[in-house]
Amino acid sequence: MADIKKIAVIGAGTMGTGITQVAAASGFEVILNDVDDKFLQRALKIMDKSLSKLQEKGRLKEDKDTVLGRIKTTTELGDAKDADFVVEAVFESFEAKKEVLAKLDKLLPPEVILTSNTSSISITKLAALTERPNKFMGMHFMNPVPLMKLVELIKGIATSQETFDQVKAMAEKMGKVPVEANDYPGFIANRILIPMINEAVYTLMEGVGTVDAIDQVMKLGMNHPMGPLALADLIGLDVCLFIIEVLYDGFKDPKYRPCPLLRKMVDAGYLGRKTGKGFYDYST
Ligand code: NAD
Repeated sequence: MADIKKIAVIGAGTMGTGITQVAAASGFEVILNDVDDKFLQRALKIMDKSLSKLQEKGRLKEDKDTVLGRIKTTTELGDAKDADFVVEAVFESFEAKKEVLAKLDKLLPPEVILTSNTSSISITKLAALTERPNKFMGMHFMNPVPLMKLVELIKGIATSQETFDQVKAMAEKMGKVPVEANDYPGFIANRILIPMINEAVYTLMEGVGTVDAIDQVMKLGMNHPMGPLALADLIGLDVCLFIIEVLYDGFKDPKYRPCPLLRKMVDAGYLGRKTGKGFYDYST
């Protein structure tokens, strides 16, 4: 653990940006990689803004520039070769992850731990793409990473206890609370969250309640900070559909059947906040 100084984060999207920020603020040097410099520049801007806010609120231990000074960006995956620890956070696509993980596995010394931030792909299946399945783990951060405490830690079938202990220690060093989940579709978080959202869409489709009624019931009655439909809009309806399909395929259990209304909305391009329309309208 003491010798982990440099982390490589692969993918500078929503999650990779947040993970980079938190790692740098925890004292690690970070190499952030993406395929195009424009994504890296966007990530730097987002981190600058987020760190400024945290600094204003007195929630940053060091100066913002010290934290940003620990981050190096690169479009060359090869620059990850000196990393002591890697978090993969590219698109949620098996093919995209396969390509990146195979390259990383060849590039990195055999003792380096490789982790994936996947929300739903089997850790065992990803680990099997590498020559180091014992040194491979799921490290599932939550969005937005700088604010959310939880990290789900998922062992693949071959992950060693030593790897688990090191990843757990890394999560704690990053100020997170690690919780262990087994490698089954959806792990814990999405196994519970996404069927709830899917059921909320059924409740809407069947006319049991309006969008407002469904969200109000869950907020006021269950003390959820957001209603399930508003949360679906935030996550992205395409992402929700993708994950419920992973659960349905993985368990072959009809209780995970995707709601036809969810599919219809995705077909229409109503993906939630990111397209300006989902269960709510964000265009104005
Ligand atoms: P995103 O679409 O915001 O970002 C993905 C980034 O990966 C993009 O910038 C893309 O250019 C980059 N990328 C694609 N191929 C690459 C390659 N070959 N090399 C380097 N970079 C590459 O995605 P995201 O929301 O940050 O999700 C990333 C991962 O985190 C996914 O596995 C997702 O399931 C998981 N996750 C997402 C959330 C969430 O709420 N967004 C929460 C938890 C976990």
